[in-house]
Amino acid sequence: MEILYNSTRTKGNPVKASEAILKGLSDDGGLFVPQQIPALDKSLEELSHMTYQEVAYEVMKLYLTDFTEEELKNCINKAYDSKFDTEVIAPMVEADGAYYLELFHGATIAFKDMALSILPHLLTTSAKKNDVKNEIVILTATSGDTGKAALAGFADVEGTRIIVFYPKNGVSPIQEKQMVTQKGDNTFVVGIHGNFDDAQTGVKNIFGDKELAAYMDEKGFQFSSANSINIGRLVPQIVYYVYAYVKLLEEEKITCGEKINVVVPTGNFGNILAAFYAKQMGIPIDKLICASNENKVLYDFFATGTYDRNREFVLTTSPSMDILISSNLERLIYRIAGNDPDRNRDFMEALKNNGSYTITEDMSKELADFYGNYASEEETAKAIRDLYENTGYVIDTHTAVAACVHKKYKAETGDDKVTVIASTASPYKFTGSVMEAISECDPETDAFELADKLCELSKVPLPNAVLEIKEAPVLHDHVCDKTEMKQTVMNFLGI
Ligand SMILES: *Cc1c(COP(=O)(O)O)cnc(C)c1O
Repeated sequence: MEILYNSTRTKGNPVKASEAILKGLSDDGGLFVPQQIPALDKSLEELSHMTYQEVAYEVMKLYLTDFTEEELKNCINKAYDSKFDTEVIAPMVEADGAYYLELFHGATIAFKDMALSILPHLLTTSAKKNDVKNEIVILTATSGDTGKAALAGFADVEGTRIIVFYPKNGVSPIQEKQMVTQKGDNTFVVGIHGNFDDAQTGVKNIFGDKELAAYMDEKGFQFSSANSINIGRLVPQIVYYVYAYVKLLEEEKITCGEKINVVVPTGNFGNILAAFYAKQMGIPIDKLICASNENKVLYDFFATGTYDRNREFVLTTSPSMDILISSNLERLIYRIAGNDPDRNRDFMEALKNNGSYTITEDMSKELADFYGNYASEEETAKAIRDLYENTGYVIDTHTAVAACVHKKYKAETGDDKVTVIASTASPYKFTGSVMEAISECDPETDAFELADKLCELSKVPLPNAVLEIKEAPVLHDHVCDKTEMKQTVMNFLGI
């Protein structure tokens, strides 16, 4: 069955998967959504004996229906290879009554690698299929992890250039060092004076600039996005929820069809939306537990039906979730608005103009699968410390937000179903905050020194990703104002 993609903001003009991947965002500013969510066509039992790559094929083939089997398998095999430090790609660790699905075994030790190691291949394949001659310029705003994962994925990929904007004072020292040491002639990294939402808004404005697009085309360039709004990122993220379920089944931790809960530390709402899609495809997931940090717009949204970004932006120890506009939520709003682009557009316009919108009661009823809560900074640190003291297992700050919210959910509901917690980053990426939580360390100590100490405590060897950047020279030191992003892009392209 062929799956086409609609924009969340206008009726008609559906596009093929490869076109949606190439464009990233629809011309009207909407996000692409599959016209329907396909059901898995293999049984859970069959899937349970498959490798990660095989499961990836079974899931992705249902969405990327204009890719040939050979094209898709090629992309998958190039992505999920020895860049990951474990053959199982996404291992699970049982600790304190939950299964931590470790999504940080790729090149940049955060879950963004799960999708960004395959996106460049999906994109270049899509370009070939659509006879695109222009060079593709990937434009990305990052709260820290997407940037490096995208840079690593696209560095020296022929026919592409990549430009990453990050909030100059809003990422961890390791995250910044990872980005500014990025090699590759086609890479460009810029710190902006502003926060992540400023970076994301700036990028969205550049995407929406039709005049610029026409000028770029004249010069042989076109934009695409590596942000989690790209369907080429969302689809690969569904895979690991399917994989987690069938591996629990294979290891007889659950029986076939038994429902599990999933907890996801959430920022832009991409990762948890992927879990929701996995559920719609037939994976027996009961609750989708959405965990926020102190930027708790989503918690408030699930509690009240009002999405309100008019609030202070808090810099937390889980910076990849310091977000007030969760872009991917638009896909869910569109769905609960009855797949009606006009209704969805009204909400998004209200968000743009007033910073808030309120959904109807009917729409709220459609959100019964979701539960939202949040963790304060103190609770996050305590979750890291408690888990470490009880089990010896060390988690990062983002995962700790999820661990804390899981505890709150259980206390509130008494629901103790088997639970998978998406573990989104290695603790080595946020050594300052992690070490402060589990030891007497001063978080201002040099990040690499802290990494050595963390190694002693956690007994987990230092990942390559950290070793590599320790001595690496800084190759990018560009900083600009949030109003200068467009000019910065044009300068880099030499147009
Ligand atoms: C990006 C990120 C998140 C948030 O994921 P979304 O898909 O934006 O909700 C959580 N944790 C880490 C470590 C991340 O890098």
